[in-house]
Amino acid sequence: MREIPGAWRRTAEGAGLATAAGEIVPTIFAEMTALATATGAINLGQGFPDEDGPLEVLDAARAAIARGDNQYAPGRGVADLRLAVAEHQHRFYDLTVDPDREVLITAGATEALAATILALTADPGDEVVVFEPYYDAYAALVSLAGARLVTVPLEWPDFRPDPERLRAAVSDRTRVILVNDPHNPTGTVFDDATRDLIVELADRHDAIIVTDEVYEHLTFEVTHTPIATRPGAAERTLSISSGGKTFSTTGWKIGWVTGPADLIDAVIAVKQFLTYVPATPFQPAIAHGLRLADDFYRRLAADLKDKRDALGAGLEAAGFEVSVPGGSYFTVADARSLGAEDARRFCHELAHRVGVVAIPLTAFVTPAEKPRYASLVRFAACKKLDVLEEAARRLGTLS
Ligand code: PMP
Ligand code: GLN
Repeated sequence: MREIPGAWRRTAEGAGLATAAGEIVPTIFAEMTALATATGAINLGQGFPDEDGPLEVLDAARAAIARGDNQYAPGRGVADLRLAVAEHQHRFYDLTVDPDREVLITAGATEALAATILALTADPGDEVVVFEPYYDAYAALVSLAGARLVTVPLEWPDFRPDPERLRAAVSDRTRVILVNDPHNPTGTVFDDATRDLIVELADRHDAIIVTDEVYEHLTFEVTHTPIATRPGAAERTLSISSGGKTFSTTGWKIGWVTGPADLIDAVIAVKQFLTYVPATPFQPAIAHGLRLADDFYRRLAADLKDKRDALGAGLEAAGFEVSVPGGSYFTVADARSLGAEDARRFCHELAHRVGVVAIPLTAFVTPAEKPRYASLVRFAACKKLDVLEEAARRLGTLS
């Protein structure tokens, strides 16, 4: 085999995608969606909705193309979208950000994360603290950046971080504390005590807080509290979100970062050489979405709560133990009582035996931690109710 030098291998290795034989395999999302397609199974793996979002948001994109919004947008993003993001932060969270200096539009939350991690870490001594299990891109990006991943475990069944483990993870080497709240894959929602401890530690060790809040409008029992609203946080926090989940447009890839102007400038220095700018006509459409009435946001969360409840009830009836999520698209279930010792193998069997695809939690952890999560499986609830009911019926044939 030809030797190809470069950062690609450590990126794949960081994400756990290099096999013992040195092969690079696709991400868990690509693998499981391909499995669903090949077996005709219901795809509760990759988190994407099976219904379109608001028609007026889709129409706004069509109108933008029709009126000729088809050339490069300004480097920081279309001005009206930056304004809409600033208005959104004020309307929902009472946060004030300057649309011209403190908002950056990105190609999804993914590019925002990539540019931020690359911008804020410089050498192998730099550490990024993440909560484990973590969204797969985090470990990949930290490896690409050449920095070191330091993990704080979130443990079954409530996936709350232990304050002592969090304290122990943060040091003067910590450049970034990467928060994901509401959390993928566990669905956990942090409490204010955890948020305040993160701020306290970031302040003490002069670290930047980067917070991924793509599920900000998908919480069930409480409304979302951005960590940037906590005392002392705003000056050292970059908040990331995107329109994909909120408007059921995961294929549009319009995201944003908000935070202090000097930190945004640092992120731009990298971001402008990744995509330069994301797609123009989707930007006014997402601006339209961000200005939808409160009723839209209430219904979005209420509908997903019904789906979470239907999925949870189906999983319990099928013999799983269920961790009830406070937010996000996802529910984690323990399949130990159904004989699962190896979640990945279990997920493949599930597709073939009963026609449901899910994701093993082991895809979101470092190799040493895999045993702790070996029987845990993530199911996505962002599907039509009748699809979830059919999935529940199929799962019911397992035992
Ligand atoms: N962060 C988290 C926690 C996610 O679950 C996802 C994907 N669903 C992303 C980032 C990526 O978001 P985007 O599609 O906007 O790049
Ligand atoms: N965020 C989605 C999930 O967690 C997947 C996105 C992707 O395929 N990279 O399911």
